[in-house]
Amino acid sequence: MNAILHPQMHLHKVDLKPKDYKTDTPSFWCAGCGHYGVLTGLLRSLAEIGVDPNHLVSISGIGCSSRLPYFVNSYKMHTLHGRAGPVATGVQLARPDLSVVVTGGDGDGFSIGGGHMPHLARKNVNMIYILMDNHVYGLTKGQCSPTSRPVMKTTTTPYGGVEEPLDPIMYMLTYGATYVGQAFAGNVKLASQLIKDGMEHKGFAFVNLLSQCPSFNDIDTAQAFKEACEEVPEGLDTSDLNAAMNAVNAAKKAGRIPTGLLYKTERPTLDQRMAELVERVGGHKDYDLKKIIDLARP
Ligand code: SF4
Ligand code: MG
Repeated sequence: MNAILHPQMHLHKVDLKPKDYKTDTPSFWCAGCGHYGVLTGLLRSLAEIGVDPNHLVSISGIGCSSRLPYFVNSYKMHTLHGRAGPVATGVQLARPDLSVVVTGGDGDGFSIGGGHMPHLARKNVNMIYILMDNHVYGLTKGQCSPTSRPVMKTTTTPYGGVEEPLDPIMYMLTYGATYVGQAFAGNVKLASQLIKDGMEHKGFAFVNLLSQCPSFNDIDTAQAFKEACEEVPEGLDTSDLNAAMNAVNAAKKAGRIPTGLLYKTERPTLDQRMAELVERVGGHKDYDLKKIIDLARP
């Protein structure tokens, strides 16, 4: 494998096909599961960028979606429920030269792991977080999740739900993610475009992929997503946070799901700030952690 440093960023480039990023482990999701589209989109993006699998780390928590690292030719960590983000932060800080991809579900990320999400965004950890949002807990057989529709019937809400769902996109815009996009997982072209751009983005990239769960959604979600998804207007200024929020609100008011790139900005990443700190306190790239801790002591 002939690896060269990506001209713009930390990524190492190789010339591989999408299938070369797939492990021999068969992807064991139910027939018709939307997660197949996410995997296809990711494999396609990796090939388009030319990511060196030796410089790729795929990290997940727990859930149907969190099986994804098993199917990707990369280093990988299948961690605790909701904790993929903090683990990925540690990996990224220790090895900022690696590409870090987190995949997880709506329950994993925004319920059990909900306390971590704002901090990934505000710290601007240089990674991509792909949410595989199917509005339900699939692995544990169909409980309502933080993104379930209010009236959705699940095993824990047999008469329909009574809570308003959380909007992952608004959440991430609010907490300072520097790249935010959304697509229907079945629209592999758009999904892989957003993943590719998110991986090339320097900072915390959040991509919400709406993914049907035919086993536990109470309606044909694939059809519902397909009908409701609408790409944001072409002229949207994606560097303007207010414009992004207004576009999301306008789409929601009209009963639509806004898709495409919503927001993108640049600011120093956590690893850049750490490197600056190390330099400021007289360290070097193999910095002396004990010295930093001693300096921080009153
Ligand atoms: Fe996919 Fe739902 Fe089956 Fe899990 S239970 S693999 S999310 S269809
Ligand atoms: Mg889910």
